[in-house]
Amino acid sequence: MKTIKHLPQDNKQCGWFHTSPQRTPKPALQGNLSARFVVIGAGFTGLAAARQLAKRFPNDEIVLVEAQEVGFGTAGRNSGFVIDLPHDIGAADYIGDITIARKTLQLQQQAQQLITDLVHEHHIDCGLEHAGKYQCAVEPKGIRVLEAYQRGLERLGQDYTWLAQEELQQHIGMHFYQKALYTPGTLLIQPSAFVKGAADALPSNVSLYEHTAITSVDYGSKITLGHAYGHIVADKLVLANNGFASSFGFLQGRLLPVFTYASMTRPLNEDEQAALGGKSTWGIIPADPFGSTLRRTADQRLIVRNSMSFNPNGKCSDAQLKTAYQRHVQSYQRRFPMLKDVTFEYTWGGAMCLSRNHMPFFGQLAPNVYGSLCCNGLGTTRGTMGGHLLANWLAGDEDEMIAFLLGSEQPCANPPQPFLSMGVNFNLMLGQQRAGMEA
Ligand SMILES: Cc1cc2nc3c(=O)[nH]c(=O)nc-3n(C[C@H](O)[C@H](O)[C@H](O)COP(=O)(O)OP(=O)(O)OC[C@H]3O[C@@H](n4cnc5c(N)ncnc54)[C@H](O)[C@@H]3O)c2cc1C
Repeated sequence: MKTIKHLPQDNKQCGWFHTSPQRTPKPALQGNLSARFVVIGAGFTGLAAARQLAKRFPNDEIVLVEAQEVGFGTAGRNSGFVIDLPHDIGAADYIGDITIARKTLQLQQQAQQLITDLVHEHHIDCGLEHAGKYQCAVEPKGIRVLEAYQRGLERLGQDYTWLAQEELQQHIGMHFYQKALYTPGTLLIQPSAFVKGAADALPSNVSLYEHTAITSVDYGSKITLGHAYGHIVADKLVLANNGFASSFGFLQGRLLPVFTYASMTRPLNEDEQAALGGKSTWGIIPADPFGSTLRRTADQRLIVRNSMSFNPNGKCSDAQLKTAYQRHVQSYQRRFPMLKDVTFEYTWGGAMCLSRNHMPFFGQLAPNVYGSLCCNGLGTTRGTMGGHLLANWLAGDEDEMIAFLLGSEQPCANPPQPFLSMGVNFNLMLGQQRAGMEA
């Protein structure tokens, strides 16, 4: 029996979670049960996998377990960009290999469709908007990144619009950015509201257990999963718990649990909205990957996301939250001098899972164990599609997209500790310093 050493334990102050519709979480599992399929993790990946498994195996019960409450973990903590375009941060033009980029675009557009259909079918109140995204640059080096991105978009045959400072200000209110490349295909959502809604819309043959952390596992012809009040015996296990998969003995030394952080203001009053100007909602992505992501939400709050830390135990500390908050205040003050009296109401961190070669994992991990893991910060689309296609593959499908995911490179091996922590921490520090005013 393997004990699961690292369990998720996110901080309480996630603004998206507290400002999304309240729901009654499903009770924790009490006692023992057995099922043909057990899915661990109810984020984008696990919810999509459970939903599709339920459709493809209508006579089986699908068990979905989540250590925390749905909407409280990383899936409810992100910035809510559901992006169509490839975002290969390893490539100078963010597009990289054109064949992979075309498939990625197709995959992410299919994920957008799944999300849109689910929202409409179940009337999920998550502010889904076809808003596009503004990729913004503050300094000449950021503009050079956007110019390279423009060349990548042209290779891919995708639409974009350049916006210079004055015109951009009419869209976003701020005069802070020099230039932006606007791409129209991105959807924006309230992420916690979306996953809460998706959990409540699961098919009737999915049994969801929240506040049910899997604390031990025994692999064999059947898989036994321990939790606080008993165990579950599964014919097949699907791991949809992102970086926490390495605690289950898989992809060890290949995954990088990196936290990133966000702060959300109180709602702006009418005078403050007028002082800011621009459109009533928008989403901004930085030119520099270490810069700040921003959202203006439908309920007129502003969100700043930046800062990263390497947390191999899957938890961030109070000191890291405090440092991130201080950086958010600085980034906010630089951008919103007209909104001096507006303060942050919430600050939170969320665990991402990165790999050094920016590749996810999709496929079989061991006999009867499967996974769609390592989101590389793009889990709204990649997780949704990974979970959906993994279920189809388990049902026997072998289409073009499944072949693409199965044939993709896997997360590469990392150097051993302590060199790994030294290297990752150094690179994060350097990246954050180099981001300069983009942060
Ligand atoms: C601040 C921030 C901003 C981001 N912005 C964006 C964005 O705008 N767009 C985008 O696409 N992505 C973004 N991301 C990344 C995105 O949130 C992730 O890629 C996505 O959540 C991954 O989905 P997932 O379902 O694979 O994993 P997760 O959302 O991490 O879900 C895994 C779940 O597994 C559960 N779990 C783990 N271990 C166990 C266990 N032992 N037992 C039971 N349950 C367990 C966890 O509690 C968790 O809920 C952002 C992330 C952060 C932190």
